Amino acid sequence: MLNTLSGIAYKVMSLGLTADNYKPIYVPDENFRDIVKIMFDVPEKPEGYQPAVEINRASRKTTVLVTGGLDSTVCYVMALQKTGQPPMALYIDMGQPYAEKEQKVLRDLNIEFKVIKKKPPHDIAKSWKHIQPGRNLFYLAAAAEFMVLGGELWIGATDGEMPIRSGDKSVEFFSLAQTLFDQYLPHQVKIQLPVKEMTKSDEIGWLLRNGWLDSQVRRTYSCFTGEEKHCGHCQSCVRRFLAFWNNGIDSAEDYYVHPMIGGEEYINKYKDLMGRAVKYKDFSRYSERRSIQDLDAIKNYETSNRK
Ligand SMILES: [Zn+2]
Repeated sequence: MLNTLSGIAYKVMSLGLTADNYKPIYVPDENFRDIVKIMFDVPEKPEGYQPAVEINRASRKTTVLVTGGLDSTVCYVMALQKTGQPPMALYIDMGQPYAEKEQKVLRDLNIEFKVIKKKPPHDIAKSWKHIQPGRNLFYLAAAAEFMVLGGELWIGATDGEMPIRSGDKSVEFFSLAQTLFDQYLPHQVKIQLPVKEMTKSDEIGWLLRNGWLDSQVRRTYSCFTGEEKHCGHCQSCVRRFLAFWNNGIDSAEDYYVHPMIGGEEYINKYKDLMGRAVKYKDFSRYSERRSIQDLDAIKNYETSNRK
């Protein structure tokens, strides 16, 4: 049922059933507007039922899940270059502590985006350390459902953070998610991982080669706190600092605390685990490319600060 009229009708039917004043019924184009409006206008409808019918601007467009971070920003720019027009950018807002900050960053980056708001299934503060386990399937599914005419769905998962088997950024995860899409969606959505062979250092280099200024790249945000500046304590801040350092950029000013000090625990962890990964050629946790780049950055930083 991909991109067929019955596929669209099926989708509209389910949207109509779950629609409320907060959640409109999305249709692919103007032609559907009138028919959908009268379809659900029956005496049996729930009291107060009067959802809006909106044209789904994602129709047939490449859709990119954006966060204001480096990975998804690179995806967005790549999609823009590929098609010559801005892709549909979707931001999934589940009330993450950093949701407001991320949306502000997207506006600063001139990325026009649409927000899909969902209440989190539980107290988000109780998630595992800084992560919301299992969120990527939800993000992907919410975006895919929005794309009623199907198309490509791009998500930023980089080399060095895609373990083979476990977690919701793993190669196995994306492959199984695609299988679910093929079985459960009335339209065809193809998950794409355009930065899967790039590390964060590579991404920064790519943006710089594609006309971005240092200052623009540094506007991307990837801290878990959602504060104005980056915290300098979290793992994401440490990775960001090292990736900029690898590109000859000292991003120290972007953090409240210098990540090489505030994130010492992670630096030591990387030195130990990545050092061992390189020594024993076991790249099941960190990719070879990322290990070498991060170790280089640490070594280079430490040497230049000893002088
Ligand atoms: Zn941070």
